[in-house]
Amino acid sequence: MASDRPLVGISQCLLGDAVRYDGKSKANNIVLDKLSQIFRLVAVCPEVEAGLSVPRPPVQLTGSIENPKLIGRDDPSIDVTAILQQYCKNKPAELDQLSGFIFKSRSPSCGLNSTPVFINEKCVTETSRGIFAKKLCETFKDLAVIEDTDLEHTETLNKFIRSVIKT
Ligand code: SF4
Repeated sequence: MASDRPLVGISQCLLGDAVRYDGKSKANNIVLDKLSQIFRLVAVCPEVEAGLSVPRPPVQLTGSIENPKLIGRDDPSIDVTAILQQYCKNKPAELDQLSGFIFKSRSPSCGLNSTPVFINEKCVTETSRGIFAKKLCETFKDLAVIEDTDLEHTETLNKFIRSVIKT
């Protein structure tokens, strides 16, 4: 029965929904063909849910690895840090029933271990965490998490599935 399947959150663009900054999606076949049969997927797009438009100017983590701002990639006068921080403060409370989360890699909001940070226009790391992913992982320390690029590694994928099912 569908209701027996664990609830797993997912970055909405991975489901094929056109919510990205460029008005496109990042449909992931492993999610659509396999994981959607095992889990009940709960779509979350932090940037759209925070109130940003589709399409929208791309933003990137900027100024600090520990406490970055979300600044426009092409227009540094754009600063959506406060709006995303406010969203990230409130949203996790709605997600306390989740047994796992599948994040979109490299995103300044959703990246798990793959997001670049820029300081003085130079990329200083490509292994940081998006602002929403960071907040969710801090709030639910035992949550099973993975990002889309790791879904292709069978061992990592199977470990994630086992972690979700045993919670
Ligand atoms: S990566 Fe996250 S914030 Fe960006 S479009 Fe996908 S769900 Fe939305």
